[in-house]
Amino acid sequence: MVEDNLKRIYGELPPGVKLVAVSKFHPFEEILSAYQAGQRVFGENRPQEFASKALQLPQDIEWHFIGHLQTNKLKLVLPYASLVESVDSIHLLESIENWGSLNDRTVNVLLELHLGAEVTKGGFHESEIVDVLGNACKGCYPHVRFCGLMGMATNTDDESVIEADFKRIEDFKHRLDDIFPALKDFKELSIGMSDDWPIAVRHGATIVRIGTAIFGPRIY
Ligand SMILES: *Cc1c(COP(=O)(O)O)cnc(C)c1O
Repeated sequence: MVEDNLKRIYGELPPGVKLVAVSKFHPFEEILSAYQAGQRVFGENRPQEFASKALQLPQDIEWHFIGHLQTNKLKLVLPYASLVESVDSIHLLESIENWGSLNDRTVNVLLELHLGAEVTKGGFHESEIVDVLGNACKGCYPHVRFCGLMGMATNTDDESVIEADFKRIEDFKHRLDDIFPALKDFKELSIGMSDDWPIAVRHGATIVRIGTAIFGPRIY
């Protein structure tokens, strides 16, 4: 089933768009089925589960961290993360910079833009991201590589609302590219989940994060 789901999605996904298989709450065996079908990029959102899976599953898996990250959990995540997609505060960013400096590592991150109607959702406002990237250009975060933006659309069945959310982050990404041409690694736009990824692809997604449509519903 996992293999069929992956095949179907890859059949529709334009080449060049990276599929992150979101395996949170799913057991090792399900991840291994996807791995055996050729999937190598997986996403998790809880630090303990992330570390345990990264340590025990095949070492050529590319792990993305996609959840809220508390600064006291960095050591569970940063050693294993190819990309931290969900950097949502200056405090977290500064802690990541510190960790990178202490461990002599450069950490790949996406900045999460607060998108969507829910106030409970995390993420930066646009002006904060402009400030962060301005400081990055001045050399404030030498151990952080800024690879792009991440966002989650409003949780709704109304496609026009989702469309508007994705258009906003797409336009903002283009504006940032104009303001900060020096940021050569700032290429990724991670938008789109199981229910809305085709819309995200139309709005320039370079990464989609898909869980349910691959692994089925999560049992919390
Ligand atoms: C869980 C999660 C996903 C995947 O959601 P599905 O609807 O199951 O595809 C994508 N992105 C983030 C940040 C998530 O937490």
